[in-house]
Amino acid sequence: MTSSNLNLIFLGPPGAGKGTQAQRVVEKYSIPQISTGDLMRAAVSSGSALGEKLKNYMSAGALVPDELVLDILLERIGHEDCANGFLLDGFPRTVAQAEALETALVERNSPLSGVISIDVPDQVLTSRLTARRICSKCSASYHLEFLKPQKDGICDKCSGELYQRKDDSEEVIKNRLKVYHEQTAPLVDFYQKKKILYPVDGNKKIDMIFQEICDIIDNLNSP
Ligand code: ADP
Ligand code: ADP
Ligand code: ZN
Repeated sequence: MTSSNLNLIFLGPPGAGKGTQAQRVVEKYSIPQISTGDLMRAAVSSGSALGEKLKNYMSAGALVPDELVLDILLERIGHEDCANGFLLDGFPRTVAQAEALETALVERNSPLSGVISIDVPDQVLTSRLTARRICSKCSASYHLEFLKPQKDGICDKCSGELYQRKDDSEEVIKNRLKVYHEQTAPLVDFYQKKKILYPVDGNKKIDMIFQEICDIIDNLNSP
């Protein structure tokens, strides 16, 4: 890897639209989307010993312990498809994770290009999450009102079946938002101090937000 890599982070509360925007960014910029939530849900469904450990944290909307997430993330960004960069969606979520990532990237001589934080008020997040539906095959996310699939219950991209995540229930959402404000929101300050934070208003139309994100990325490439 070189310092001209496009190493991006999407930071934001659950439901901010990180996954939705990430899908569009990976198509346009040809870098892989790495969602620690997706990776860990795959481990849970595989029924592995690791999956069993992760399950209890995730279903309660608590964070998985840093050392477990870090192992998974560092292994993943070592894959060949990350050679020119990557988009992290849902990682880091604690200052300790951010520091460990920084150390790993220094070793690779491939620093972060930018951290795009997507801001959305809590009231909006809850209604987004309760009506979210996810593709069981490709993890694309839909919304019963704002981003309907062409055919009810079926993914537009891969024809996979859509399902509702168990942790997208009101009670667990409440805890996820609390955890976000306590443990993840401090990362806004952390990256602002490093002068690589780019905030975006996430309470707008999906296409408008995507345009703003593309403008930010294009400016990173040609400052
Ligand atoms: P959302 O996209 O709605 O924010 P995610 O799919 O990113 O949700 O995460 C689902 C769950 O997986 C979280 O509630 C948490 O339990 C776990 N998780 C995902 N990423 C991390 C991380 N970086 N650190 C700790 N736990 C994580
Ligand atoms: P995150 O990955 O940050 O948890 P998602 O991308 O899964 O969030 O989006 C959460 C829900 O909100 C999904 O149902 C998605 O279709 C919907 N959504 C995403 N962006 C917007 C937007 N700008 N306006 C309205 N709904 C949105
Ligand atoms: Zn799909």
